Parts: sequence; structure tokens; C-alpha cells
Amino acid sequence: MTGYVKIISLILLAILFLSVRFGMFKITGYCPCQKCSGKWGRFTHTGILAKKGVCAVDTKVIPFHSVVFVSGLGMFEAEDTGAKVKDKHIDIFFNNHEDAVNFGIKRRFVIWLI
Ligand SMILES: [Zn+2]
Repeated sequence: MTGYVKIISLILLAILFLSVRFGMFKITGYCPCQKCSGKWGRFTHTGILAKKGVCAVDTKVIPFHSVVFVSGLGMFEAEDTGAKVKDKHIDIFFNNHEDAVNFGIKRRFVIWLI
């Protein structure tokens, strides 16, 4: 029991002092193709070359460069935006269109560090 109390206290402290935020998000995939990224191609909004582990976010919800943990999918870095990426929606980068499309639409619990 005390173990749980300890974990909960640590999470609460992290939320208060380390700017940890969380919520349920819609997760989709995108790739550097014309259809997904238009003229931007592989370049992200922050100017880096997108690679595995990069995601697009609504910066009103998750600021750029935040570390984003998506349950069951792992850790991502918020370096991109998208016209269709609004509110609690994260678009995950894939190297090819087929993988991005096959990913579909998922709902996942997300924690991010600002
Ligand atoms: Zn694509």
C-alpha cells in the first residue's frame, strides 16, 4: 500500500514541478509523401528532418520539443504540426505511406514533459 502512495506522490510532484501533462489523444500516422506532408516533405515545422520518433502536435496543447509518451507506442518528440492536427490529436511520423495508412486511428493515453 505504501508503495502506491509513494508512486502517486511522485506523479503528483512531477505534475506540479516538472510540467508533466497527460490526457487521452487521437493518434494517427503520416509520412513525407506529397499527400501527407505536401511541399514540406521530410522537413518538420521546427526545421529538422523527420525520422522515426518524431510526431506532429497542436502546439496549443503540446509545445514544440516536448517529450511525448504514448501508451503502447513509446516515446516521441514533438517537432511538427499539421493542418489536420488539432487539439488532442498526435500524428506520428512513418517513413512510408503504407505504414502511415495501416496505422489507422487509435485512441491512446498520452503523457508529455514540457
Ligand atoms: Zn503519406
